[in-house]
Amino acid sequence: MTATLIDGAALAKRLRVQVAERAHALSAKGRPPGLAVILVGDDAASAVYVRNKVKDCEESGIRSVLQRLPADTSEHDLLARIDALNADPAIHGILVQLPLPPHIDARRVIETISPDKDVDGFHVASAGALMTGQPGFLPCTPYGVMKLLEHAGAKLAGAEAVVIGRSNIVGKPQALLLLQADATVTICHSRTRDIAFHTRRADILIAAVGRARIITGDMIKPGAIVIDVGMNRDADGKLCGDVDFESAARVAGAITPVPGGVGPMTRAMLLVNTLEAAERRP
Ligand code: NAP
Repeated sequence: MTATLIDGAALAKRLRVQVAERAHALSAKGRPPGLAVILVGDDAASAVYVRNKVKDCEESGIRSVLQRLPADTSEHDLLARIDALNADPAIHGILVQLPLPPHIDARRVIETISPDKDVDGFHVASAGALMTGQPGFLPCTPYGVMKLLEHAGAKLAGAEAVVIGRSNIVGKPQALLLLQADATVTICHSRTRDIAFHTRRADILIAAVGRARIITGDMIKPGAIVIDVGMNRDADGKLCGDVDFESAARVAGAITPVPGGVGPMTRAMLLVNTLEAAERRP
């Protein structure tokens, strides 16, 4: 391996310490930051994510309120709960764990969360704010990737940045953030004709695809900074990214591992957003 490892776990730990200091300062003024997390149904992976979020809050001085609702909760009931949390001054951030059961319209649920409390950054108002460069909440994963790039010393102005993936929660906001940082941005997706043509000229390569190890070393420009958002299971059931770490690390200048790269940063940025939501409140 010749690439420098970009240690997301270590950076996330540092951010959590900073969040804890600021959270304690708010609590000392009688305004403890509060996050409400709603989990509908019993999806096993969602239950793990939610447990981790609650644990992260506890460790960072953020008060969390977990509402576990049965899978047959009506959309009407869920929306009413969000309305109540919107009106609750002790709650600064609201997160509804996705996916939701099929009888509930996830879009309607997200749009019911007050944009002031949209710490996941999924509300259309948050997306619009990002698009137009207004203040708002950034989606946690691309926000975390920007922190990783900053930490790696990436020079973004004028750089060729290639994002693979165009989802609303990762690829598109990622591309907008890179554009805001003055990179020249290309977005690739499942209909892109020749992915390697694009990846080979990327100074900054962000893979957010969801396909195990589809980006190999021969597709990477020597010295590039490679951020692997993907979280996949390979044929042996092993957790891996979209990037074939072994071959990529021989070519890249710096690279994130999976696990230990983007994942911990996504978790940390939720805390950062919640804290900022609380600090913004007079
Ligand atoms: P998604 O909604 O499924 O989007 C995947 C994107 O990849 C789509 O835009 C799709 O193109 C594109 N794509 C699929 N196959 C492709 C191919 N063969 N070549 C090029 N592009 C291809 O997924 P997501 O929510 O953005 O997540 C992407 C990955 O990141 C997943 O592995 C997910 O688990 C992981 N993730 C990790 C974190 C974290 O914290 N580490 C957070 C979020 C997501 P089309 O639009 O044309 O279909």
